[in-house]
Amino acid sequence: MAATSHTSIRPRDSVSTLASRWPLLAQRRPLVAYLIGIVALDLVAIGFFATSAPYRWPDALMFAALMACGAACIEATRRLGMPAGVSRDLLSAWWLPVALLLPPIYALLAPILLQALLQVRVRATVVYRRVFSSAAIGLAGATASVVFHTLVPDVSVLSRGEGTPIMLAVGCAALFAVLNTALIAVAAHTADPDTHWRDVLWDRESAILDIVELCLGVVVAIVCGLNLALLVLALPPVVLLQRSLLHAQLQAAARTDPKTGLLNAAAWQREADTEIVRARRTGETLALLIIDIDHFKRVNDAHGHLVGDQVLVGVAATLRSQLRDYDVVGRFGGEEFVVLLPRADVSEARRVAERLRSRVGRMAVPVDDALITVTISAGVAIMSIHGDDLIELLAAADLALYRAKELGRDRICIPAVQAVPSSPETVDDATA
Ligand code: GH3
Ligand code: MG
Ligand code: MG
Repeated sequence: MAATSHTSIRPRDSVSTLASRWPLLAQRRPLVAYLIGIVALDLVAIGFFATSAPYRWPDALMFAALMACGAACIEATRRLGMPAGVSRDLLSAWWLPVALLLPPIYALLAPILLQALLQVRVRATVVYRRVFSSAAIGLAGATASVVFHTLVPDVSVLSRGEGTPIMLAVGCAALFAVLNTALIAVAAHTADPDTHWRDVLWDRESAILDIVELCLGVVVAIVCGLNLALLVLALPPVVLLQRSLLHAQLQAAARTDPKTGLLNAAAWQREADTEIVRARRTGETLALLIIDIDHFKRVNDAHGHLVGDQVLVGVAATLRSQLRDYDVVGRFGGEEFVVLLPRADVSEARRVAERLRSRVGRMAVPVDDALITVTISAGVAIMSIHGDDLIELLAAADLALYRAKELGRDRICIPAVQAVPSSPETVDDATA
């Protein structure tokens, strides 16, 4: 399941001291209302199902065994660490069987136990996020549990291998995944209403992981129903999958600039090098842009670093949204960004750079009752005209950027080169 991560906004002054102790209060009011609503609903459901549940020893034993497997999974991957922000795990492999085989009260309690363990043993994150995650997973699990128990009153038939109960279990596992995704997506969208619903609801990688979790959860439920001791055989492959999933996420996190989500400087350099080697081999053109936010220090001085960070995030998102999937964009450091445009010639590079400049100029970051706007300057270098390798291209683009700043900022600059007969695309120092 996905752990939640909401964008933090600047706390209002009147509540800033309180907010430092209670980070929930620093969030937008609609988000606070939504989170409290979901947690309250979870508590009501716990109260309702706790009083109406039939308590049986075999159920308690199965619950304890599944929770022990979940805890073993967490302990076995604990040393790998956890990537910052939204991360995925395969704990559904344990709470889906709880939802399918046990009364709904267990589905509500299971995420509380495992989220508490994650908080204590893996990463102490903001408590309200853990509480919300537990409530969202618990409510999704309890709903799937109620539906499955209504459709299949004798859940032991799941382990007899008949098609219908297994199909119904798959359907309820899918219902669990959809509900949990929807509850988290509403929180993410309420935290940042500018994000598109599609972005918070649909992510290909996430959907593939949901399917893997669904398959694992149903298989573990069938195995568990056959014989509880068989969990000993199910645990190692789930642990291994969980470890490889975490490893992949940590690798991705090591490539990413945490503030903007773009490639960090080292990862960008590696990818840019690969593109340059490819361009040299195929003889294709390629352009490199260095982009710098103008007078960014003034934004920090006037509004503070937290607002400066929001502007950085806004500029990064605008750049990303204006580029093709195969363009390589990264944060070079501070308020500087680098873009590699494979197959772009001089006119294409100039067009793209000009589009980026005008889109960033039109972008406004709302802060309190003001809107912050910034401009950018960019230096452009073209493969074979201004340099043949990454170092030469970076040096040429950097010089052009320096010139753009000198000429007054908010402009694009392409270095002039001496016209030679074999180089028909020679351009002069051009300003926008
Ligand atoms: P110029 O137009 O010449 O580029 O002026 P500038 O103010 O943008 O450039 P300068 O190099 O003087 O200042 C860059 C500022 O960017 C100073 C630094 O505090 C700020 N900065 C660098 N990284 C970050 C960051 O991650 N967050 C925030 N908020 N500010 C940052
Ligand atoms: Mg700079
Ligand atoms: Mg700057």
